Amino acid sequence: MKTRKPMVAGNWKMNKGLYATRDLLRELVPALSDVEGVDVVVCPPFVGLGVANRELGSSSIKLGAQNLHWEESGAFTGEISPSMVKDLCDFVIIGHSERRAMFGETDESVNKKVHAALKVGLSPIVCVGETLEENKSGQTGEVVSRQVREGLAGVEPEQAVKLIIAYEPVWAIGTGLAATPEGANAVHRDVIRPILGELFGDKIGNGMRILYGGSVKADNAKELFDQSDIDGGLIGGASLKVDSFVSIVQAA
Ligand code: PEP
Repeated sequence: MKTRKPMVAGNWKMNKGLYATRDLLRELVPALSDVEGVDVVVCPPFVGLGVANRELGSSSIKLGAQNLHWEESGAFTGEISPSMVKDLCDFVIIGHSERRAMFGETDESVNKKVHAALKVGLSPIVCVGETLEENKSGQTGEVVSRQVREGLAGVEPEQAVKLIIAYEPVWAIGTGLAATPEGANAVHRDVIRPILGELFGDKIGNGMRILYGGSVKADNAKELFDQSDIDGGLIGGASLKVDSFVSIVQAA
């Protein structure tokens, strides 16, 4: 039996502005009001965080951002600092594959962001995952290990309890081709979990949540979440519709 509390986080990506964020949450909050036993997080774009924070009010749904900068303030035009995020959110997605592929994020910048987020008390959701090419050439274990080790370098065990890992094979994101439950679980159980144990000790490593992300939908969520080391999901497309997101939360 799993002792880790499942989590379902919605990554809205660059969808839903201020008014659309408000409208979606006005439907989502009541629809999820009686859900228990699962942590639910929504991550709208930066411009929606203020209104989302107000709409969520005393709801148990938590708020997350999709990115931050590691510096606290200064001449970083267009960036948002850890404290600015913390004013509104409890969570922040770090190192999503779209940011790695399109915005030059590296394991090193991910690591700086992880430390900066932890310093202000945010819970980072750190994304890792291999490309299709890496998967086909049998490099999944190697790539994911490197991303976890380098992304979490220097994190202390007492900080690690706030960390969440999201395994998101790049080839499964937005493609409709989710990893098989057994295949994803093998990466969680045999690659990521042992590294967490090595870095932070088995007790802490076994308590840390590892989410799966990549084409999770209402109809495949349960089978994925039933796996021993899949502790919930990071959901893209299916988090933008109330019905599908609620079904995924219920599956968890
Ligand atoms: C994501 O972008 O984090 C993601 C998992 O997307 P999707 O669910 O749409 O594949």
